[in-house]
Amino acid sequence: MIKLQDKYFKPFLSQAEIQIAVEDLARKISADHKNETPIFIGVLNGAFMFVADFLKAYEYPCEVSFVKLSSYQGLTSTGIVETLLDPPENIEGRTVIILEDIIDTGRTLKELVHLFSNTNVKEFKIATLFYKSEIYNGEYSIDYVGIEIPNKFIVGYGLDYNELGRNLKEVYQLNQKHMINLVL
Ligand code: 5GP
Repeated sequence: MIKLQDKYFKPFLSQAEIQIAVEDLARKISADHKNETPIFIGVLNGAFMFVADFLKAYEYPCEVSFVKLSSYQGLTSTGIVETLLDPPENIEGRTVIILEDIIDTGRTLKELVHLFSNTNVKEFKIATLFYKSEIYNGEYSIDYVGIEIPNKFIVGYGLDYNELGRNLKEVYQLNQKHMINLVL
């Protein structure tokens, strides 16, 4: 169990489990795009660690860039997604593959689709390492999913709780039992 500020988190996914999922994604996406040079767009901040490991496992030439979006404060989505860094300009006619750390309600994804809607890309695909299928609104199809997870708040491997926990190598899940104990 670890403590970040006022919350406790229990181990959920090991480094090895995460690595297997990242390498599987890289293998599948490599196989589907070996005859072109895709541009991977990482979604900051949460996806930075995933993007680094994914690119090391990607088997063919590719480019990388980032956008920055923000919606969470503490444990909950604010419902408002802000764009803090726009997509690169050289993407017309290219295959763009979004690398998301996690898809939860889908609000961030909606903003991403909107951001790229006027860019004239050849193909627009979405890959996410973690996917909360129970809560996703299903508006857009997700092309590649690493690991489906329950609707519980996680930290580690790039994901934060109030900016803490991003440097953890493993993924931890909020310990709700402990939260109830604290309230009682
Ligand atoms: P959505 O817009 O799909 O509801 O949420 C996507 C964004 O919310 C992610 O990019 C991530 O920043 C944040 N998020 C969603 N679920 C979690 C979670 O379980 N843990 C953390 N740390 N962030 C999350």
